[in-house]
Amino acid sequence: MATKLIDRRNFMKSTMAGVGGFLFLASKAKGEEKKQSDGKFVYRTLGKTGLKLPIISMGMIYAGNPNLVRAALDAGIVHLDTAHMYQRGQSEEIIGGVIKGRSRDSYVIGTKVAFSPNKITFLYTEEATEEAFTKMLDGSLKRLGLDYVDILYHQSVGRKESVLFEPILKAMDKAKKDGKTRFVGISTHRNEPEAIQAAIDSKFYEIVLTAYNFKQKHYLQVKEAIAKAAQSGLGVVAMKVMGGVTSQDPLRPINPSAALKWVLQDVNVTTTVPGFSTFEEMKTDLSVMEDLTLTDSEKEYLKTASAAPGLYCQGCGQCEKQCVAKLPIPDLMRAYMYAYGYRNLTLAQETILSLNLPRGVCEDCGQCPVKCLNGWNVAGKIRDVARLRDVPSEFIV
Ligand code: SF4
Ligand code: SF4
Repeated sequence: MATKLIDRRNFMKSTMAGVGGFLFLASKAKGEEKKQSDGKFVYRTLGKTGLKLPIISMGMIYAGNPNLVRAALDAGIVHLDTAHMYQRGQSEEIIGGVIKGRSRDSYVIGTKVAFSPNKITFLYTEEATEEAFTKMLDGSLKRLGLDYVDILYHQSVGRKESVLFEPILKAMDKAKKDGKTRFVGISTHRNEPEAIQAAIDSKFYEIVLTAYNFKQKHYLQVKEAIAKAAQSGLGVVAMKVMGGVTSQDPLRPINPSAALKWVLQDVNVTTTVPGFSTFEEMKTDLSVMEDLTLTDSEKEYLKTASAAPGLYCQGCGQCEKQCVAKLPIPDLMRAYMYAYGYRNLTLAQETILSLNLPRGVCEDCGQCPVKCLNGWNVAGKIRDVARLRDVPSEFIV
């Protein structure tokens, strides 16, 4: 595996071509959407929170350049989406440095706190306590240099039981009462419809941050869950909007405008959090606000790219039932996507380390019985990405 970070779109952009569409959504964005007087920025309202946000926000999963964050805010982006674990806390530190001196009502910060579930039951263990959650939130606030965040997410939930896990609900409720967050939400990138429905039923959460993209085989179920959330007054933020970058294969370049427009044509999505990491990428992402209509070439791209296997794990979970060791395969495939798609080895390594994998993973089964919905050789990918466990973190830039 290459350990050198590369610009994820640099080698893609030259061959950005379209191919014809079938997955594009029927409706044009309307509703609460309105353009600013400069004709460029389009805003939507984040459910009952009342926050008005541009439909393009900034995902901070691998933005390591404070000047880029500064430029994003100066360009009109309002909402920065980070997490306690992103870049081992550096993401929050970068934001903290950039927002210092800026008016508190000029930006909206969302951060997330996560616990790893038991790898067999996928339920939380005794480590997931109210105190531990609060401690992580306090660490995030300190790094951000803030008394409060605008949105606090319970991160990476895919089961109803996790969404409603009482110690975390208590910690989040207390955080809100103590003024450490204005709003609370969940983030989910597997089993999204179940997690979103649980968030609606909780009558507690106000925002859902969900994976949503043209590569999802179950996108209609996600779309339906999003619609229900919006009808219930929850704000909807979309992530993983590029569908797992296919950066291994320069012959199948990503078309970020097409991917973003596909998501934003769903009027129930308030904003998206693309993780641009260069000025050029930012410019491209912002440009979709000028016209959300898919061009013929963008439709063609979506059609072709949606059929390609790519790097996007569907999170369907069918592999976990077949794996003799009950490995958290969707999480491992996400780490693989971080490594090869996002070229973010830090995040891939953090994900791998959080899973407490056994030694010699996938080495004793002989023939792997797992049949993946995407047709992947999951054992090969696991053995590959698990090597990151043994790479000293200082070797990874
Ligand atoms: S080879 Fe790996 S993925 Fe396949 S069954 Fe064994 S432990 Fe599970
Ligand atoms: S079967 Fe394949 S697509 Fe489905 S969760 Fe497992 S790895 Fe992902």
